[in-house]
Amino acid sequence: MSKRVIDFEKLEELLKQHDGQMLVFEHGEPRLVILDPKRYPNLFLDKEVNPSGLEEKVRGAKILVTGGAGYIGSVAVENLLASGYDVVVLDNLSSGKASNVSCPLIVGDIGDPKTLDKLFSEHQIDAVMHFAAFVKVEESVKFPEKYFQNNVVNSLALLNSMLKHGVKKLIFSSSAAVYGQPSSIPITEKHPCFPTNPYGESKLMFEKIIQWYSKVHGISAVILRYFNAAGASISGNLGEIREDVTHLIPKVLQVAAQQEEELRIFGQDYPTFDGTAVRDYVHVDDLALAHILALDKLTKDQGVFTYNIGTGTGYSVNQVVDCIMEQTGKMIMTEHAPRREGDPASLVADASLAFSELGFAAQYSDLPTIVDTAWSWHKKRFRL
Ligand code: UDP
Repeated sequence: MSKRVIDFEKLEELLKQHDGQMLVFEHGEPRLVILDPKRYPNLFLDKEVNPSGLEEKVRGAKILVTGGAGYIGSVAVENLLASGYDVVVLDNLSSGKASNVSCPLIVGDIGDPKTLDKLFSEHQIDAVMHFAAFVKVEESVKFPEKYFQNNVVNSLALLNSMLKHGVKKLIFSSSAAVYGQPSSIPITEKHPCFPTNPYGESKLMFEKIIQWYSKVHGISAVILRYFNAAGASISGNLGEIREDVTHLIPKVLQVAAQQEEELRIFGQDYPTFDGTAVRDYVHVDDLALAHILALDKLTKDQGVFTYNIGTGTGYSVNQVVDCIMEQTGKMIMTEHAPRREGDPASLVADASLAFSELGFAAQYSDLPTIVDTAWSWHKKRFRL
């Protein structure tokens, strides 16, 4: 790998933009570190940032989590329960696992009005966190109907049932896929949205539905546009379980665990510092924290609020592979492969709005922590 030229001016500019970021050097490479305001309160003197500062009235509130048996939803449930919330999960177990859920679980579909009626009648729900969705980009290109049905039509049934039962607070899992090919990096929430696949389109469509329901029906919502969710829960109990692994980090871990022979690196001619694609990886516990802060926001403010949830730091495919070799001590064989259709060169969040308005700052999203938690989970799951 050729030596990177460090642009200190750019780094300084970035540091000025993001309060609470620090520049550190790791193996001679500069890296921005996002600090946790809870652990370093004195560095955030001018801001009222308190991630665990839940309003008393929110404690004990009941939250419906759709997709709470899945990868991100289950970690959010774990964090909600730890923060004192009452939680009910609705999941059809199409990809989630019942064993991930340690609160009441209703096995059913978000698109089934009968299930929803029963649920909202039996439980006094204060807010809904809506994770349940199909999430595979490649699959969405092959079967768009599947994505529009579940992510839009079924989600609409959920929203209508919420309205019918007077539940007006929603936290919606959206995605950086709504932006499509970015024209500038880091991506702010004001960046134009032109999704390049049905998955991103389905997320954007539902975002728009939420905006209209807010205007017309008074729904309040926080829309969280996740960048690349990664890692396994800090508790060690939860992580990603998929039949057909496509995401980079679990894929590399399969190679480390000798379950796959080699990693195919899709594209080495991107206009990035080492030619491989750059992504902003966010630890799943940090995503969960963002949801809890979003709930807090909805106790204070009405309207629709949209935030990028990322770290502002991107890592290339090569950097991810290097980090995994270092953390696992295993050799990763790689093979050059053509670019994957529709993959942008670089997707990095400007996460400053979530920081200033929600008090969100990633705590576990440095690459070594992401890899370490994911590897421990992988070893536990496959009894390695
Ligand atoms: N990637 C890769 N090999 C793989 C899987 C992913 O080179 O086996 C690359 C992919 O092309 C992208 C990056 O890793 O540039 C992150 O891919 P992932 O599927 O994890 O997330 P995406 O950003 O596509 O949602």
